[in-house]
Parts: sequence; C-alpha cells; structure tokens
Amino acid sequence: MPVRVAVNGFGTIGKRVADAIAKQPDMQLVGVVKTRPSFEAEVAVARGYPLYVGGDGNVEEFRSAGIKVAGSVDDLFRGTDVVVDATPDKVGRQQAAKYASANLKAIFQGGEKPDVAELSFSALANYDAAKGKSRVRVVSCNTTGIVRAAAVLRAHYGVERWEATLVRRAADPTEVHKGPVNAILPTFQFPSHHAPDAQTIFPDLAISTTALVVPTTLMHVHVNHVRLRRPPATTEEVVAAFRETPRFQVFRSADHVEGTPQVLEYAKDHGTSRGDMMKNVLWEDGVRLAGNELFFFQAIHQESIVVPENVDAVRAMFNLAPNANASIAVTDLALGLRD
Ligand code: NAD
Repeated sequence: MPVRVAVNGFGTIGKRVADAIAKQPDMQLVGVVKTRPSFEAEVAVARGYPLYVGGDGNVEEFRSAGIKVAGSVDDLFRGTDVVVDATPDKVGRQQAAKYASANLKAIFQGGEKPDVAELSFSALANYDAAKGKSRVRVVSCNTTGIVRAAAVLRAHYGVERWEATLVRRAADPTEVHKGPVNAILPTFQFPSHHAPDAQTIFPDLAISTTALVVPTTLMHVHVNHVRLRRPPATTEEVVAAFRETPRFQVFRSADHVEGTPQVLEYAKDHGTSRGDMMKNVLWEDGVRLAGNELFFFQAIHQESIVVPENVDAVRAMFNLAPNANASIAVTDLALGLRD
C-alpha cells in the first residue's frame, strides 16, 4: 500500500512538493489544500489532484468560482497517513495540534521553529534519525544548501571551521509586494539564523554565517570559506567529491554559466518542472583549495531545493527505504535529477 500523503498549503513549496509526491512509486497524493480559489487551485484540479478547502476558506467560494472541490480539510485528513505542511511561516505551528488530533504524521518547513518537530532533517545528513518519526521539519532552503555541502565536506575531509556569507534573494518571483527593489540590505544579526539552524542537524559543526539581501528573485548565492581537517592535495579532488554526490550540479568553464540567470535558463532548457533547480549549484571555477583553506560559491534555488528532502522525509518516517542513498535514488529518478 502506498503511503497516503496530503499537502496542506498549495503555494510556492506546496505545489512543488505535491507534484513530486505524485511522481513517487511508493506514495499516493490524496489531496492538496487551498484557502482561496485561484489559478493555482485550477492547476491542482487540472492535474487531477483532489482539492480540499482549509484555513478560513469556504467551499461555496470555490464552487461559485467554478472550481471543483472534494471537501474540507477534515474530510481529507480522514484518509491521510502524513501531511506535508507548506503553509506560510508560523501557520504550520498553529496547525500542529490539528494534525496530532487527526492522528497524522506531519512534515513542517523551515519557516517554523525547530521545536515544532522531533527533529530537523536533510536527507544527505540525517536520514536514519528520521526513521519512524512522527513530526519532522525540513530545514529552510539556505540551510538545506549548507547542510548538503557540509555532509560532503565532513565525510571526505572533516570541517574545522566554516564561515559563510549568504547573499539572499529579496523575494520569490510572485512576491510582488516584497523588496528591496534597489538596495543591498545587511542583516544585523550575528550569526544570521542559518548557522544555528544548520547546527540543529550537525550540532558540532563550527559554522558562522552572515547574510545580506539583494534585489533579485533568481536564487541565493553562498560565499563559503571552510578550513578542512584533512585536506586533499588538489582542488580537483574537492570538485570531484561534490560532483559524485547526488543533488549537486557542478558547472564546467565550458558551460559558460556566468551566474544565476544562466543556471535557471539551463534548468528551463533541460525541461525541468517549472524551470526548477533542486540541486546545489557549484562552478568548478568557483572552488579553490589553498592548503587547508577551501573557498567555494554555491547557488541555491529557494523555490525548489527542499522538494526532494520532503519526499525523503516521508520515506524515512514510514521506513520505505533502508537508508538515505536508497531513498535519494528513488526520489531523484522520479524527479529526473539523475543523469
Ligand atoms: P507561500 O505563501 O508561497 O504558500 C503558502 C500557501 O499556504 C499559500 O497558498 C496560502 O494561501 C496557503 N495557506 C495559508 N494559510 C493556510 C492554512 N491555514 N491552511 C492551508 N493553506 C494555507 O509560502 P511558501 O514560500 O511556499 O512557504 C511555505 C513554507 O516553506 C514556509 O515555512 C517557508 O518558510 C518555507 N520555505 C519557503 C521557501 C521559499 O523560498 N519560498 C524555501 C524553503 C522553505
């Protein structure tokens, strides 16, 4: 029997997670939840996803907009094993009691504080710890990017110290009321919240982060400086370690990918769903090892990087795969992330 998955909140993250769940061989997307009629609600129906009304929404509003709904969120939860909460920041926590009283396992997103769940999760880092758990939090886009890279560097070389500056996108492309439009905004928080968030997964990771927001919607970029414990002899070995790990895309010089616009153009040219880039993006020219000091840039597509992690979280919570590699292999094949 496939695990029955509901997605509560069908926005930027929810609609992508719903598509990803619908593609998995061992999961069934039993429904998605919206609060208001919209073109996205119509897309859900067109894709054959049963659409339910949640939050303060009402079924009549959908019916009068000509959008077919299957019922209310309570109807959906009666036939669900796990809910992926993809509601806005802090709304997930308000929903937690509802999930518990419906006897559902739940996956929360990085906009919630860590204590909403039993553990924070990223598949390459701590898949086994999520096995059989009832409440798991997939860390945010930036933290997912850091933790994936940390999983590689810790396993191969050990990490003595890591400093990262996060150049953050101002908004998602549809967030028309957010900014800045013409400014660079330093975040006056030391460290920024990303370092402690990464430490919810790797408590002993000696990392410090700072952040600034810039006027773009096209991905975040991290500027990393890492002191390795057991450095390899060459930069090429580090590049190879990233390249051979799932969920990393390392561009060559010959690809002529100068920055984030070309990364997303590459994704569109490869026909990925919504032009998404679910892998950490590195450039071989943007990695440099000098003794034990490693410098590298990585770009993170905020709208999609956490999507495969949500799928793996379901698999871990229901013991559907023996280990991280097995789960990642199934997820990534279904999502077209494997070469
Ligand atoms: P979003 O605003 O794009 O989507 C949230 C959706 O939930 C909207 O459609 C909204 O109408 C709906 N909603 C609101 N209240 C609801 C309720 N009570 N019941 C059901 N649906 C409800 O938000 P998002 O960007 O998808 O973010 C969702 C979560 O994912 C947040 O925790 C966020 O921090 C996290 N996240 C976002 C990004 C990103 O860059 N967008 C990246 C990683 C993680």
